[in-house]
Amino acid sequence: MEIIEAYLTRNPCYQANVREEDSRYTAFQTEGPRGLMLHSVGCAQPKASVFLSGWDKPDYDRACVHAFIDGKTGTVYQTLPWSFRGWHCGGPANETHVGVELCESDAIRYLGANRFEIINQKTALADCARSYAAAVELFAFLCLRYDLDPMTAILSHKEGAAAGLASDHGDPEHYWSGLGTGHTMDGFRADVAAAMAEISPAALGQEAGPEPTDPAEPGAAGEALPFPDVPAEAWYADALRWAVEKRIVLPGDAPFRPDAPLTKAAAVVWLRRLWRSLGEP
Ligand SMILES: [Zn+2]
Repeated sequence: MEIIEAYLTRNPCYQANVREEDSRYTAFQTEGPRGLMLHSVGCAQPKASVFLSGWDKPDYDRACVHAFIDGKTGTVYQTLPWSFRGWHCGGPANETHVGVELCESDAIRYLGANRFEIINQKTALADCARSYAAAVELFAFLCLRYDLDPMTAILSHKEGAAAGLASDHGDPEHYWSGLGTGHTMDGFRADVAAAMAEISPAALGQEAGPEPTDPAEPGAAGEALPFPDVPAEAWYADALRWAVEKRIVLPGDAPFRPDAPLTKAAAVVWLRRLWRSLGEP
């Protein structure tokens, strides 16, 4: 599984997170994801790039998700930091769940909501299989990273709707059943659980940095940091701990990437948070 960072920085949802518009954003940023919701796009568009360009606009205020999975390559395009609050399900699960979209095959043609005909079965099944396999890997990675139980923490949009946590949609089950794949959410959760056992700590470390220290067990240098890629004994860890305490650097800024260059954008955001931490408006 390849994850390419493609944040939708111009989308109003991303901007609301950066501005910390209200307590729903700060709560999600502080606590991180407590669940994962699987979606599919509901149109015959396998290319993630089409959604990336369409949604990365200041006037695209309808939705924003955490990732799209391309149907032709299986590549994951991460569109929000995992610790940002998304606008993916039109319900309370936005306060708790990361939302991931499977891009659907272009070898189908929609006839109505949740209804389509198959134009080329071989292509459609191959597109679906690619996105399914990548979703299993991505959800396994996120369950390990955020200590989530796949059996209880993973929902589809359809299941979220039935539970009163999301708007009335049928994805992605309608996509799987319309293609006759036999996939179910119970099967998906079981596949994620099996994939979690396959991910070695080393592989997780490569993608996510070292395991986060248990916050209940402060390391030698004090309180644990919310950044998996910052060792507790790093020379700047005390300063970073202070910045997190003052809410200048937020858990939503993870991964911290200590060796990355500081952009002008990050500099002004951190300056404004510093200003606010001093009690200024
Ligand atoms: Zn959905």
